[in-house]
Amino acid sequence: MALFSKIFSKLRSGSATSADWDELERSLIEADLGAPFAAEIIASARKLPKDEVERQLLAELRSHLSGANRDLAKAQNRPTTVIVVGVNGTGKTTSVAKLMELLNSKGQRVIVGAADTFRAAAIEQIQTWGARLGVEVIAGKAQGDPASVAFDSAKRAIEVSADYLLVDTAGRLHTKSGLMDELGKIRRVIEKSTPVDEVLLVVDATTGQNGITQAKLFAESVSVTGLILTKMDGSAKGGIALAIEAMTGIPVKFVGTGESAKDLQPFDGEAYLAGLIA
Ligand code: GDP
Repeated sequence: MALFSKIFSKLRSGSATSADWDELERSLIEADLGAPFAAEIIASARKLPKDEVERQLLAELRSHLSGANRDLAKAQNRPTTVIVVGVNGTGKTTSVAKLMELLNSKGQRVIVGAADTFRAAAIEQIQTWGARLGVEVIAGKAQGDPASVAFDSAKRAIEVSADYLLVDTAGRLHTKSGLMDELGKIRRVIEKSTPVDEVLLVVDATTGQNGITQAKLFAESVSVTGLILTKMDGSAKGGIALAIEAMTGIPVKFVGTGESAKDLQPFDGEAYLAGLIA
């Protein structure tokens, strides 16, 4: 993205003007940093001595990234339980398939609970991936009770001493409280058998500020421990990772970079900042 490279070279040659800073502010907004956040960054950078801008700006951007651990949780002597939440269409079910692939390729035994019972296609999608990878999928009937699928999958994960339990969930935002109640119930029934280690929220990077609003809303209601930022391949606006971490404090743990099961990368904060600056 190299958003800052132009201003840095102008600062080095002593030719940076007010118009250059304005242009940078516009490109930060276009990169989905959001207007108030972009204004804040520009205002503080403009106050810095010219030969300090690069170093201090990098430090400032870094301070807005979450300092939390970005590794996927790993429990000892019991299944690590990961609930995947997010609004429909963000890439939630695909992200569950990608996590199945990732963990399976590391020799981890995975059980999946297909608790997005609202969408028959989501259940089928997970079952197809499960069959392909040899991963057991616990599914109920379409329109069935998602909490009962979650409960059965937790029981099964313990029974077979699985390393990971991944639970897909529905994401209808018809009413906020309806969805959050459903997610709360899924969590509680799992916790009757085993602790929940991660709640990963899937956000579509191409939805910009709307994605940030979704993240805030979910973070207020369910204890989100990490983010999966999908469709980064289709977005030139990678500023959203910084904006979303600055606004919510939740670490991005993975980025989705395509539609196939292998298109999931761990998020590397330093490499990301280097990309913004370069
Ligand atoms: P859900 O409703 O949140 O479960 O969404 P799905 O997993 O069904 O995904 C919705 C659409 O987004 C599908 O067409 C996916 O192939 C696509 N998708 C998911 N993740 C990515 C990604 O990282 N990159 C791209 N380009 N497409 C993705």
